[in-house]
Amino acid sequence: MIEVMLLGTGSPLPDARRAGPSTLVRAAGQTFLVDCGRGVLMRLTAAGVGANGLSALLLTHLHSDHIAELGDVIITRWISTFTPDPPPLQIIGPPGTAAVVDAVLAAFGFDIGYRIAHHADLTAPPPLQVHEYTGGVVWNADGVRITAGATDHRPVEPTIGFRVEADGHSVVLAGDTVPCAGLDELTSGADALVHTVIRKDLVAQMPMQRIKDILDYHSSVEQAAATAARAGVGTLILTHYVPALVPGQEDQWRALAATEFGGRVELGDDMHTVQVG
Ligand SMILES: [Zn+2]
Ligand SMILES: [Zn+2]
Repeated sequence: MIEVMLLGTGSPLPDARRAGPSTLVRAAGQTFLVDCGRGVLMRLTAAGVGANGLSALLLTHLHSDHIAELGDVIITRWISTFTPDPPPLQIIGPPGTAAVVDAVLAAFGFDIGYRIAHHADLTAPPPLQVHEYTGGVVWNADGVRITAGATDHRPVEPTIGFRVEADGHSVVLAGDTVPCAGLDELTSGADALVHTVIRKDLVAQMPMQRIKDILDYHSSVEQAAATAARAGVGTLILTHYVPALVPGQEDQWRALAATEFGGRVELGDDMHTVQVG
């Protein structure tokens, strides 16, 4: 079984009830954080997972809403790991990830210096290893295999989705993307697809052009559903709702998905959890 928890179902626009984009995937005793948006460590704590309990951090792309709390994940893991010689945090993302991580470490350079000066058992900066990929196998350990595939979120590029396979089951995390061949290939035959979505019918009515700009590089609910149908997945899990999903309107979103996809549709608030398999 693979467990998917929507830690943060929000978007770049702050929402008092929704943390920024972040999804927790647990499989074969391993714990993967996919993207690390606003408030992620609060939700991770609510899920009973510490930053020191992560097997790896996977980043789909380098938009601010998806990496807002990268610094918090790195620093908090560092200061809350109490075993000697802690294993480095594995960070897997698209090209550019290493530069972002270096910049975050630089931004927290004073903090890192203060803590090394103050704690005798902290003698070096946060241990981490960054791996940049545009596709292929990115993780293969102890019964979990993760592959990356190219998505299309241009002009943000390159961007990647992840396919997590364990115990004979598979879950794809698409991130932000329009429908594309790379995502179709990555998702083909998977059990579940986690896809970020926007309501194009609602966003198109908003008066601000800067909001309307997002129409051309995100999938609508119907487009995500069509991707799920083409891939033959059993379950479509929607997240990253723009505009925010209003309680009571879940059926409206489900009906839009149902125009293209006949399988199970999951959506909800932060911490919504789906068992796959
Ligand atoms: Zn994005
Ligand atoms: Zn986003």
